[in-house]
Amino acid sequence: MKRLIFIGPQGAGKGTIAAHVCPKFEIPHISTGDMFREAIEKGTELGKKAKEYMDKGELVPDEITVQLVKERITHKDCYAGFVLDGFPRTIPQAEALDKEVDIDGVILLEAPEELLIERLTTRRQCRNCGKIYNLKTNPPKEEGKCDICGGEVYQRDDDKEEAIKRRLEIYKKETAPIADYYEKQGKLHKVDAARDVDEIVKDVVAIIEKI
Ligand code: AMP
Repeated sequence: MKRLIFIGPQGAGKGTIAAHVCPKFEIPHISTGDMFREAIEKGTELGKKAKEYMDKGELVPDEITVQLVKERITHKDCYAGFVLDGFPRTIPQAEALDKEVDIDGVILLEAPEELLIERLTTRRQCRNCGKIYNLKTNPPKEEGKCDICGGEVYQRDDDKEEAIKRRLEIYKKETAPIADYYEKQGKLHKVDAARDVDEIVKDVVAIIEKI
């Protein structure tokens, strides 16, 4: 089984790396951030609740987030495993997840703060299919338009400077302790994420093959 978690600060590349790695292992990429953004686009009740927190760069409450993931991992496409990206983000979320499933491995993507801020301020995403771009290192071929689906490529509200700082602070306080939590379980694998995507993907794939 490949029931995996990617953790790391915003801008470490969790979404980008997961998008490369998941097809190789034929497992779904489950991003709670993408699920919330989809709910917001659709205007659902969940989306309305999540938006209040997300716009400020704060965490959506654990009850809402845990329920969402618990339900998602029961879907048929998760039978061989999954990559959770952006979940768990708090110790209570990690504990709730442990009650549901056995996690096989946790990849921690690490990068220095200056690089994270630079990557986040230049990050763009497709509003339709979620593909991640970077204005400096990986821009869409046509400005503002997704290469894959033609959707609008936009800057997330929480990728603006104030929200970024707040999110990185929350990461240090709430999410970084999760690395210790999984280290104690002997499940943590650290990867240097301050490199090119191809190099990071190569290392992550090698780790997952051994899990
Ligand atoms: P992300 O795309 O992973 O950066 O997530 C964007 C935003 O969605 C976060 O800043 C939170 O407001 C919310 N969010 C995503 N995942 C979680 C989670 N596991 N717990 C609480 N809030 C979350």
